[in-house]
Amino acid sequence: MVIKPIYGKGIAVETLNALDKCLIVTMKEPWDILKPKISNIPLKVSFNNSMDIKHLRELYLSLKDLFNDSYTIVGIGGGTSCDTAKYLSWKLKEEVGLELDLILVPSIISVDAFLCSSIAVRYDNNVNYIGESSPKKIIIDYDLIKQAPKYLNRAGVSDTISITSALGDWKLAYKENHERFDKDTFDQAKTIAKDLMKSKNDIRDVNDKGIKALVEGFFREVTLCNKWGNARPEEGSEHFLAYCIESITHSHYIHGQIIGMNILISLYLQEDIAEFSIEEILEFFNDINLDISPKSLEISSEILKKSFKKIQDYVRQENLMYSIYNSPRLNLNQNKIKKIIQFIKSV
Ligand SMILES: [Zn+2]
Repeated sequence: MVIKPIYGKGIAVETLNALDKCLIVTMKEPWDILKPKISNIPLKVSFNNSMDIKHLRELYLSLKDLFNDSYTIVGIGGGTSCDTAKYLSWKLKEEVGLELDLILVPSIISVDAFLCSSIAVRYDNNVNYIGESSPKKIIIDYDLIKQAPKYLNRAGVSDTISITSALGDWKLAYKENHERFDKDTFDQAKTIAKDLMKSKNDIRDVNDKGIKALVEGFFREVTLCNKWGNARPEEGSEHFLAYCIESITHSHYIHGQIIGMNILISLYLQEDIAEFSIEEILEFFNDINLDISPKSLEISSEILKKSFKKIQDYVRQENLMYSIYNSPRLNLNQNKIKKIIQFIKSV
């Protein structure tokens, strides 16, 4: 179950000061901001930058004797800090039966990790989702989040706005692959994306309302996907192309940027079955000041060409959900690939 975040100004410090014993898992930037304001200096602060499973295991072993049931685990930072805190609380429960309170304080909202119960770890550089976590509180502190770079917070639209291309894939999967479909869930997902698009000016400014719109978008999307049983309403070809590009370049891109670029590619390929128009999505990205061009991502035409040659085999090998890349209506010949690249370079 996803718990509803708590919103407010300066509430990260209030929350921390009210705790007794705690382990804080964080990163330098957010900790430099919060540390001087905390009167109740925590017993242990751990900095972690790596989600590699071997590294996490070592971190867990180095900390596990410290804990007793009066401890709270607090993750403060981006996806890595929140996921590390989730991992430690899950391991303690699994291996020593210690159920500690977990509090997550995202200092940036570029990804939805703080709302997902599963934990994203890396095995040999590939992302895998393991475990289960149930935070007691999720704290959205406007003052803290505003100190992160604006363009990174804006990039948080990705996992909500990806609904706009995921819905086209879902319709294709239903028509061509006889998949489960539910009009009500479909319409709810569409409304989440539309609501987010209405908040474009606040998202551009990353003000309190904009931060809340982004987080509420995540919350509604994660809740809907949990209810449906998988990420179908939110994830499709736009994510799969990103995984494929990453498997070729081994680079980590800003999620919102690469997903943004790929949404436009998916809508272009979905043609008449697309649920949203290229124009409205492009306008939204322009309005919120999110650059999704291949140039801004440093993805060359050569890389794009390689990715489009690989993608149809890739989605089958990786057993990804049915999408436009499985559809017989898509013929990715040389001419088509040339046209897609021309299209995405022109937007
Ligand atoms: Zn995503």
